[in-house]
Amino acid sequence: MHSIAIDGPAGAGKSTIAKRVAEELGFIYVDTGAMYRSMALYFLRHSISAQDEEKISEACADIEVSIEYENGEQQVILNGENVNAFIRTEEVSMMTSDTSKYPKVREKLLSLQRDLAKKKNVIMDGRDIGTCVLPDADLKVFLTASTAERARRRFKELQEKGAECDLDTIEKDIIARDEQDMNREISPLRPAEDASFVDASYMTIEEVADTVVSLYQKA
Ligand code: C5P
Repeated sequence: MHSIAIDGPAGAGKSTIAKRVAEELGFIYVDTGAMYRSMALYFLRHSISAQDEEKISEACADIEVSIEYENGEQQVILNGENVNAFIRTEEVSMMTSDTSKYPKVREKLLSLQRDLAKKKNVIMDGRDIGTCVLPDADLKVFLTASTAERARRRFKELQEKGAECDLDTIEKDIIARDEQDMNREISPLRPAEDASFVDASYMTIEEVADTVVSLYQKA
């Protein structure tokens, strides 16, 4: 099986790029952030505090996460319910970063992610794909863009969905989330030693996707 790992900070465009590349290469796109988001949604719905590691760890036993594909789009199934429509809010984003640092939460999803890559050619995006989930990936990309650009893109995306949002708050949330994701003990956001860096600040979606495809072909 072949695999591509795409890691990087929040809002760098990982999912947009990964979807394009998946289509072009006939790979399956696996969005691991969505899996962490679904667990955060569970904690929020059950009013479990992000600070309460014990309760969160216990709750992990009651959570079942799986994924399905509908018209090529990944759907996250949380205890039998398709939760795709509920996991993209800023509240869920912060709760996800607050809880993805716990070992029990990460343990829960690691085998699911690795199993997917055993069965299909995948392009997987997240924070620890190249360093932890798929250390033997054929290609590892670390995708970045300036904070201002990432906030602007996220703002546009939320606005298009009709969500109430504020650019400054989004930029602050992105910075807080990256700080937390980079500085946690287990599987922090970090480029793999053999990752190729792509700075998407001044590139179009097509240019970034073409770069990743050609890096893969070379690899
Ligand atoms: O990629 P996305 O923004 O959806 O990820 C949401 C959060 O999930 C991240 O801020 C991070 O805390 C967590 N995450 C992670 N490991 C991954 C993917 C996401 O810790 N592989």
